[in-house]
Amino acid sequence: MPDAIDLARQLRVHLDSLRAAGVLFVPRGEPLVIASTQGAHAPRSEPEPPPDPLAARRHELAVLAAEVEACDRCPELFSTRTRTVFGVGPIDPDVAFLGEAPGGDEDRAGEPFVGKAGQLLTRIINACGFTRDEVYIFNMAKCRPPGAAGSGSANRQPTPEECANCRPFFERQLDLVRPKFLVALGNIPAKALLNTTTGITRLRGKMYEYRGVPLLCTFHPSYLLRDETGERKRDVWEDMKLLLRTMGREVPPVKKG
Ligand code: SF4
Repeated sequence: MPDAIDLARQLRVHLDSLRAAGVLFVPRGEPLVIASTQGAHAPRSEPEPPPDPLAARRHELAVLAAEVEACDRCPELFSTRTRTVFGVGPIDPDVAFLGEAPGGDEDRAGEPFVGKAGQLLTRIINACGFTRDEVYIFNMAKCRPPGAAGSGSANRQPTPEECANCRPFFERQLDLVRPKFLVALGNIPAKALLNTTTGITRLRGKMYEYRGVPLLCTFHPSYLLRDETGERKRDVWEDMKLLLRTMGREVPPVKKG
């Protein structure tokens, strides 16, 4: 049996080792109090609720949109734009539609695809069984490329340099929105995403993948507006049927008239 002096010595050694481990005192009848790493007397606090991942992504998208608003990487576009055109729609949509750049109507409204081509895109979206506010709509370049001086043209296409300038914004936006499927509209986004010089006529009609998102390429609605034969519209509908079948969705019957 250890005597009282032995017990006192053992207790002192034990208390010293507890102190070295951060235990500052041992109240009688209470659990041990462990010193926090921030400070010996930090009060106990309730654990923080886990962050809402959707709210965090919405916040990051808002921060990204503010960065775009302040961007001056393309001097001509920065100096001539009325406003930047970031994108509209919910995050985690079933499908997102990607164009090349805003036109004049979009530049004034601050929303992509609101002019004639946008109205046609809305009809295509509706024909697929979606409403416009169920899908995400955005462009590769966030500012309107103005018409070339003296050309009489309302808009020109964004240059490869302008697309490259804006690409980091587009990629972060795509990663935050996380559509289940992506549709590239026209030559410029299709070629850029697939890193190819092959034109849209040969790229359409197949599924690809971009940054882990299944990708379909098809004609831009503004091209359909110029196509008097109606053939390109039929091609786009074939592409949409491929998209819907790949998504596992029913193909709605075509409405006549
Ligand atoms: S197009 Fe994109 S990179 Fe160019 S100025 Fe606008 S936001 Fe910036």
